Amino acid sequence: MHEAALAENILNIAFEAAQKNHAAKIFKIGLRLGEMAGVEVEALNFSFDVLKKNPPAEDAKLVIERVPITAACNSCGKIFRLERYNFFCPECDGVLILKSGRELLVDFVDCE
Ligand SMILES: [Zn+2]
Repeated sequence: MHEAALAENILNIAFEAAQKNHAAKIFKIGLRLGEMAGVEVEALNFSFDVLKKNPPAEDAKLVIERVPITAACNSCGKIFRLERYNFFCPECDGVLILKSGRELLVDFVDCE
């Protein structure tokens, strides 16, 4: 899928951050990844490990924080964690609006 391109993007963001901070090494890259973002974590880790070979990223670790899928009810305002693709409120049958789960962003770059 698009995991290789994603890994490349993540590394580019980290390279920029390292450059800005005059860092010689990137230790960790934090990624917030929604469960609904459609990314295979294993494939992403694999691509990342293949692409990170060059300094300053050769020892960089990808730290992935999975963001659960949550939705808020349009009628009663309650927030639910979605286990399945259920788009109606279990309490009042109102329509659920997606609140989180599509995140795909670099949260932090730990470098020196
Ligand atoms: Zn409701």
